[in-house]
Amino acid sequence: MKASPEAQLRLLELADLDTELGRLAHRRRALPETAELEQLTARAAQVRDEMTRAETELSDLDREQGRAERDVEQVRVRIDKDQQRLNAGKVSNARELESLQSEITSLRRRQADLEEVVLDLMERRESAQSRRDASTAGTEAVAAEETEVTARRDAAVAEIAEQESKAASARATVAAGVPDDLLALYDRVRAQVGGVGAAMLRRGKCEGCNVSLSTVELNEIRAAAPDEVIRHDECRRILIRTAESGL
Ligand SMILES: [Zn+2]
Repeated sequence: MKASPEAQLRLLELADLDTELGRLAHRRRALPETAELEQLTARAAQVRDEMTRAETELSDLDREQGRAERDVEQVRVRIDKDQQRLNAGKVSNARELESLQSEITSLRRRQADLEEVVLDLMERRESAQSRRDASTAGTEAVAAEETEVTARRDAAVAEIAEQESKAASARATVAAGVPDDLLALYDRVRAQVGGVGAAMLRRGKCEGCNVSLSTVELNEIRAAAPDEVIRHDECRRILIRTAESGL
């Protein structure tokens, strides 16, 4: 293929813009905010689990506490009843009297035990309550951080999009000045090797793959006409000759 040295030089501008576009695409994929948001999503799920556990425990404890309080009440009612019978002086039989008194004693013990249970449940409830409060605060903190990171991510994406659109329009302008067949070759090579389709030959080295050319290769290039389109055998990129090529 033949193309004027000026047209070939434009491929270097095209390559620079493609490098820039590649850099921007990579920046978008590797935004630190994306990883931060993933971590926050995981953290939010964790806090939600903690909240669910605390709430389940709270409702279990509420039920247990209600049951224990009803038990205390039942025992208290029985003690009152026994006590009234005792006070009314209706029980005169010594054995019956003794059994009533011993029942009251054992009911009082039972009442004290049950009250102990209620106290213990209340303490556990307080601890579950404070864990739930911590989860609520945690949820709010994660949500606030998510809002902040999302705004930062959106701003970064918008900035990248703006730079991309500038680079893309500059690329279109440069591409318009490249002959169709040369541009098609450039794009084909770029699709095959990735990154850029053309590279400068600088001081005997291909800047596309950083491989130094052999003396034989360099001699062939020296002998070639300036409008000959040269490819690097190693990476297949179009090699662009400039004053710095070392020929
Ligand atoms: Zn190369």
